[in-house]
Amino acid sequence: MLNTVDSEMLYDKFGRPVNSLRIQLNAICNFNCIFCHMEGTERSMQYMTPEQIEKVVAVAASHGVNKIKFTGGEPLLREDILDIVRRTRKHITGNISLTTNGVELPKLASGLKKAGLDRVNISMHAIDEYNFHFITDTKKNFLPMVKQGIEAAKNAGLGPIKINFVLMKNINENQVDGMIKFCAENDCTLQLIEFEANREKEHSEEYIKYHVPLDAIENKIRKQAEGIEYNPLHNRERYTVNTDSGVVKIEFVKPMRNTDFCKHCTRLRITADGQFKTCLLRENDYFNIKDVLENSEEIDKVYRKAVAARVPYWR
Ligand code: SAM
Repeated sequence: MLNTVDSEMLYDKFGRPVNSLRIQLNAICNFNCIFCHMEGTERSMQYMTPEQIEKVVAVAASHGVNKIKFTGGEPLLREDILDIVRRTRKHITGNISLTTNGVELPKLASGLKKAGLDRVNISMHAIDEYNFHFITDTKKNFLPMVKQGIEAAKNAGLGPIKINFVLMKNINENQVDGMIKFCAENDCTLQLIEFEANREKEHSEEYIKYHVPLDAIENKIRKQAEGIEYNPLHNRERYTVNTDSGVVKIEFVKPMRNTDFCKHCTRLRITADGQFKTCLLRENDYFNIKDVLENSEEIDKVYRKAVAARVPYWR
């Protein structure tokens, strides 16, 4: 049943509405990406059940949330993923999407579509096997399977497919042209993402080693672009570039020290074990619903507290 409760959209003290929920479904992954922030959470063992996730979604939907993104860990490693999507679809008329490394998509793409998933983001941080293997840090090289996953998502109608590509200094900077070509050939949008860390980790060896601003690449792409659209949903520009391999759309996600990015944030997060979280980068901002997951009224109370506690990280 679709949510028919009159929705009362909730705003935080900074006038930002919350209309989107990012739901972490697990904390395990078949990749070990060298930069992974694990959605700002610890590795937990006890995950919310599909029924509990549905209760949380219904509460959020009653407050105007109409956009869901599933993430992990690797969300497609959950055996009950189709049930979770199906239950979520009962309450959400807007966009339901999922971010995945793509390996399980050949098996799951058409079932996900039937269950009500609209589209996928697929992470692929290199086009050549050596770089891909280095970044994902696995025993086996999964790049061919990720490519099969992209194909399966396309065939199942899970588009527009966005390819998430986290740019890292001296690691995959030389892969950008190849990724643009790949996305043009495969009808995917390329989403270049800035390597992100919070204030505590901004001075770490890892951040200094890997972080590289996206401005130089964005300026180059802007000059080449045939068209530039403003994407109001994310408050950023989307470039259309003509290449020898076809037309490709390219977006840049630049969160670091970006006050505008936070000003337009409309999202609340929930961890796999059942805690609202107001911001990826904030530590100790958990609002626990683990013990009240069977009780919608109690979930509602905590949801309101979490929304009210939202503060832009960069301001
Ligand atoms: N396993 C799934 C995947 O690979 O897409 C979902 C989880 S992953 C944490 C979700 C997204 O976060 C991926 O696109 C990943 O590239 C991005 N990500 C992880 N760590 C990051 C970091 N330090 N900076 C920027 N993006 C990051």
